[in-house]
Amino acid sequence: MAFTEGKGRLLIEIKGAVQGVGFRPFVYRLATSLGLSGWVVNDTRGVLIEVEGEKASLEEFLRRLPAEKPPRAIINTLKFTWLEPIGYTSFEIRHSLEEGEKTVLVLPDIATCPDCLAEVFNPADRRYRYPFTNCTNCGPRFSIILSLPYDRPNTSMRIFTMCPDCEEEYHNPSDRRFHAQPNACPVCGPHLELWNPKGEVLATGDEALRSAAAALREGKILAVKGLGGFHLMVDARNSDAIRRLRERKPRRDKPFALMVRDLEQARLLCELTPEAELFLASPEAPIVLLPRKPGAPVAEEVAPGNPYLGIMLPYTPLHHLLLREIDFPVVATSGNLTDEPICTDEREALKRLGHIAELFLVHNRPIVRHVDDSVAWIVRGKPRLLRRARGFAPLPVLLSRPIPSILAVGAHLKNTIALSVGNQVFISQHIGDLETQEAFQAFERVIADFLRLYEATPVAIAHDLHPDYLSTLWARNHSEVPLIPVQHHHAHLASCLAENQVDGEALGVTWDGTGYGVDGTIWGGEFLLGDASGFKRVAHLRPFRLPGGEAAVKEPRRTAFALLWELYGQEATAMDDLPPIASIPASERKILAKMLERGLNSPVTTSVGRLFDAVSALAGICQKVSFEGQAAMALEFAFDPSCTDSYPVVFEERDGVLVLDWRPIVEGVVEDWRRGRDRGIISARFHNALVESIIQVALRVGNEKVALTGGCFQNRILTEKTAMRLEQEGFQVLLHSQVPPNDGGISLGQVVVAACRLK
Ligand code: ZN
Ligand code: ZN
Ligand code: FE
Repeated sequence: MAFTEGKGRLLIEIKGAVQGVGFRPFVYRLATSLGLSGWVVNDTRGVLIEVEGEKASLEEFLRRLPAEKPPRAIINTLKFTWLEPIGYTSFEIRHSLEEGEKTVLVLPDIATCPDCLAEVFNPADRRYRYPFTNCTNCGPRFSIILSLPYDRPNTSMRIFTMCPDCEEEYHNPSDRRFHAQPNACPVCGPHLELWNPKGEVLATGDEALRSAAAALREGKILAVKGLGGFHLMVDARNSDAIRRLRERKPRRDKPFALMVRDLEQARLLCELTPEAELFLASPEAPIVLLPRKPGAPVAEEVAPGNPYLGIMLPYTPLHHLLLREIDFPVVATSGNLTDEPICTDEREALKRLGHIAELFLVHNRPIVRHVDDSVAWIVRGKPRLLRRARGFAPLPVLLSRPIPSILAVGAHLKNTIALSVGNQVFISQHIGDLETQEAFQAFERVIADFLRLYEATPVAIAHDLHPDYLSTLWARNHSEVPLIPVQHHHAHLASCLAENQVDGEALGVTWDGTGYGVDGTIWGGEFLLGDASGFKRVAHLRPFRLPGGEAAVKEPRRTAFALLWELYGQEATAMDDLPPIASIPASERKILAKMLERGLNSPVTTSVGRLFDAVSALAGICQKVSFEGQAAMALEFAFDPSCTDSYPVVFEERDGVLVLDWRPIVEGVVEDWRRGRDRGIISARFHNALVESIIQVALRVGNEKVALTGGCFQNRILTEKTAMRLEQEGFQVLLHSQVPPNDGGISLGQVVVAACRLK
């Protein structure tokens, strides 16, 4: 191509997270510094650029664009075309274009950047102590976006008119706040108020903040409107206050997350590795579960019996200001009632949290959608999500190839929904257990929100195979497009393969509490060989009965009873020396035995999650639970690492399928208990037996790739030991990192399975 006098023009199209991150001013600065002319514009797909000038400068521009992009920008694709110059005389930032397919990434909310933080604590700055300070590198995004493209009139900041100073920053391409959509200052932006539970204003502005801090010091329960919803906060050292919060929420034992002032305070509470420090202080600022230090200065009631603490750093100026006013960590738990979604509106908060919180620190920037704190931990040296929300949602998981647009409605517990557009799967923020009216409404809201935001018209809806899940029923009511049922554990496997961009088959060790099996029984201890297009159930746990179904989930002692009853028959009812039997009243034992005898209301299951429950009960650790996974967690925490032997691992082959026999394991547990062996030994022998069983199946199946997925792989010991042993045997281990191994990752799996089914 011959260009006049070594000059040329480039048309560049960039897709990815390139809006709301200071991308256009960066392009402007780069282009003008290289003496190039042209323009840059946001459209619904991303950013379009035309630059012209010296060819050498254009090549440099092309090289430096991805290399020097703003820190929060993510470039998924960059396409460019060389054209003849047409004589642009200057470089300009043009107004956003609204037409076209909406594939630009909506950014997650971003924790306060160091520059903004410095301003907030600089007495000479005009934003000194201003809780809503932000810039193009930080601040609210997903929680304030009403529609695309991301411009101020399309956010909940549209009700605030910028003052001349903010206006000046917003229009100055060399300013950090150039086109920072939520730009605000004390003169023109949102402000704080402190309310009593009647909604009466007690204080405003900085006085509201200082009074709120004083209330925390006095042991009051404070509801704080934050970024994606309300927190309930209380002094983490104050046992009485935490107990009051637990009673009112109600939340008996489930650990509370903590917010600490900074890394220094975090170090007093937990053992921090360099990775943990980086992750805590990252722009995503998740709650990170970290090993608690002995004598950590927090009340036992924060996380009873738990060797970990979930801690996060302040992620908005409001949180920074509040935490610096006090010198102790606070409990910062979602502002909701148990099983309900987090509160986002101050009026609603008065109604729903009025009987919990004693004071309300609120502001007048509307929260467009709820976004909980994300929860993560570091396993095998890598951050991994247990709950995916703030900081991560709604960034997509990228597939290796494009698929049709599919809506997946997730499972029942820890629900998320997912929507595919091209090779991107947008996974919603954590919605929660669809157990309450409020949670189901939130589920419907999020679906509507995603369809509107991405203007997608799904060609199919994927749902769980379970006929009675509310998510399944919702799908049935929207059958204007084909419905594709997806087996629960198949979705777990497909989810793990998809996020690891693995195409071939893998052995999926899909272990969890509950999932509807293709034979109508409750699965949960499955070894599935396959990929998104299908699977073969190559092995599973020996089935047993759950007397009372859901009741057995709440009472691990019932599952223990069922296993003993199967092993020892009627004798089991008199085994008073065993903790689960002793804890069940004699009259109830008779009823349970009858139920098991007749198979009444006692569904059959292969759930490893329930086996964990039963062993936890048999080891005298936990007979009843107040939250999902409690018994299994307590058993994990008891693990004695010095014990390396295991209960017998016995498989039986039935029609070419391996059946892992739990009976020798349970017999071993009973024997150990009777010999007075420590629970740590019982826990270790049990964990080791499970690891060994996985190795044996993997060796028998012989597939190189092994995926560990399902809620049981929130167990760190099980995950780490299994992964290590598999690798020693030469297997390639696939773990989750972008989506949780629990049911929060199901919607992603449903999407990819459904896409295969459509072909
Ligand atoms: Zn900033
Ligand atoms: Zn202003
Ligand atoms: Fe599951």
